[in-house]
Amino acid sequence: MIPSAEIIALEDRYGSGLESKQPLVLVRGQGARIWDAEGREYIDCSTGPAVASVGHANPIVAEAIAEQAKRLLVCSNGYYNEQRAELLGRLMRIAPAGMERAFLCNSGTEAVEGALKFARAATGRTKVIAAMRSFHGRTMGALSATWRKEYRKPFEPLVPGFEFVPYNRPERMEQKVDGETAAVILEVVQGEGGIHPAAPGYLEGVQALCRERGALLILDEVQTGFGRTGKMFALEHHAVQPDLLCLAKAMAGGMPMGAILIGERVGPLPKKIHGTTFGGNPLACAAAKATIRFIESQNLPQRAAELGQRLSDGLKAIPSPLIREVRGLGLMVAVELKQKSGPYLAALAERGVLALSAGANAIRFLPPLVITEQEIDKVVQETAAVLEG
Ligand code: PLP
Repeated sequence: MIPSAEIIALEDRYGSGLESKQPLVLVRGQGARIWDAEGREYIDCSTGPAVASVGHANPIVAEAIAEQAKRLLVCSNGYYNEQRAELLGRLMRIAPAGMERAFLCNSGTEAVEGALKFARAATGRTKVIAAMRSFHGRTMGALSATWRKEYRKPFEPLVPGFEFVPYNRPERMEQKVDGETAAVILEVVQGEGGIHPAAPGYLEGVQALCRERGALLILDEVQTGFGRTGKMFALEHHAVQPDLLCLAKAMAGGMPMGAILIGERVGPLPKKIHGTTFGGNPLACAAAKATIRFIESQNLPQRAAELGQRLSDGLKAIPSPLIREVRGLGLMVAVELKQKSGPYLAALAERGVLALSAGANAIRFLPPLVITEQEIDKVVQETAAVLEG
């Protein structure tokens, strides 16, 4: 393999330069572990972010991909395919109550983009209410529902009709949703915004409001779906039934894939109002089928609940004056610091733990759901060393 310095130089020279990168060349993974080109081992609590839930190089998923790659890689949505049909069946079997159909796509932002279009088409309205601190993606529609100024500002004017309210404040939502509102879009746990779970009753209240005023409720579970929070879908922590549900990230074990689940209130959508070349391709469908089968057979949501508790408890017990708060749901945990998290993320990587930022001050842990108790304990121990030291 070419030396790490050369790999970094090539990416820096010819890549878009849009991302800020850690100076690490990651080349191989297994379960919760990942290795760099020099052979150094890390526990991966970054996972893509939130993609490698079934673990790196999951043998069941790898096998499904290899088999399908030898059979058929592409089948346009103008034809039927057995992998797609079986995935749709499996997806609807695990789907939350009220979901009837699915549109398959390739990423989170596409799932959000499609859901916004479906909401507009179904209601004939154009206004959308989103939450402050939200992140829904970077294409123009999804970006219009995303809160952070530095993502939005360079691209204004964005899609008209989007308004923001503070998350978890039902009275503010009540003031905004009206007869012009096509949809309210919310994350069940705000991920990129710093890991803020919905308060009990909040989503149920928003759902009731949407029904009363003829708007649709879009829940974005791109980051929280497929077991991450201790349930197959984070909305199962609440008594809420969305009209559109956006999924991606962990869905196909690392293959690019997303989905919009479509509920009964959306009604029939006119033919040809949306479409995709790669969405629902046989390779991604085979990977997603294997991923969902693995998540169910290993009861990973339950595992995420138990190990998430262990991780949260361990992090809460760190006696560091730097920590403002530890919060999260399942294996989606943030340590909010009183200062910027960047230097601490770098120090953690030095000690063999990869984690993420969320907002400016939080360290975010999104480990694979197959992480072991010993690996969780090591993550806690290294975090303590970094924050106490
Ligand atoms: N929605 C949520 C809640 C996300 O966390 C993300 C990505 O982090 C997206 C949408 C966008 O997904 P993608 O990066 O696959 O376009």
